[in-house]
Amino acid sequence: MPTPTTRTAVLVSLLLTATLLALPAPATADTTRTGQVLAAALAREDQPAVVARRKLGESVEGRPIMAYRLGEPARRGVPSVVLIATMHGDERRTRWLLQTLRDGDPVVGIDLWVVPTFNPDGLAADTRANANGVDLNRNWPYRWRDLDGRYESGSGPASEPETQAVMAFLKKVQPQRILSFHQPLKGVDTDTKDRAFARRVAKKLHLPEKTFDCGGTCYGTMTSWYNHHFDGSALTVEYGRTPTRKRLVKRAPRQVLRIFGAAYGGLEWGADEAA
Ligand SMILES: [Zn+2]
Repeated sequence: MPTPTTRTAVLVSLLLTATLLALPAPATADTTRTGQVLAAALAREDQPAVVARRKLGESVEGRPIMAYRLGEPARRGVPSVVLIATMHGDERRTRWLLQTLRDGDPVVGIDLWVVPTFNPDGLAADTRANANGVDLNRNWPYRWRDLDGRYESGSGPASEPETQAVMAFLKKVQPQRILSFHQPLKGVDTDTKDRAFARRVAKKLHLPEKTFDCGGTCYGTMTSWYNHHFDGSALTVEYGRTPTRKRLVKRAPRQVLRIFGAAYGGLEWGADEAA
């Protein structure tokens, strides 16, 4: 185990390295983004992990849908990942996991975006659907069908502003992996594009491997849209009805990082290998 002094030295050297990596400034569009990233990081000392924040759009009732970028966007070779929670407003707990990552220590070894609240109106009203009564996980423009009731799919493919906002974001970022967190089915969908990865996710998060059939209505879902159109893979992760705060806040953030070989501040590498 490294001593606290060693840990501090490692952290300082990592931060210096990160700064140096960000410094070379050829006149490209990327430079501008790096500048914005650094400015954003400097602007919010209460969220040291956040290197950029982006408003993806607004909900039906005008609430912002926010994405936060963590990790090492400028470092080549790290996995690009998007985590999304609370697509259904009455599945309120999994966003704690994403908020904990956002508000916690800096992370390394990953280029990570977190969208803690996809459906802010549903969250405010404690409803599955958005303020138009639409299930945002049946509104995507791949195998969209006109569904009613619990799975109301909207007036047409991508009719909802929330869907449009996140869709534009995913098209732009095109992450290698998306984890879409839900409740309460408790399991990871292993009948999916990348089954080996899905099994790894289940193992790391201590959730059972399961096959979800979208309640028999696999139409217009976000994961199927992404899996169809892009090289990367999107995976549904379902926690139970009432996962504890301890599980989501204390344990799950590290577990999620380990899925991707990432860690907090670079300090965990040695400890992880020794464990
Ligand atoms: Zn859900």
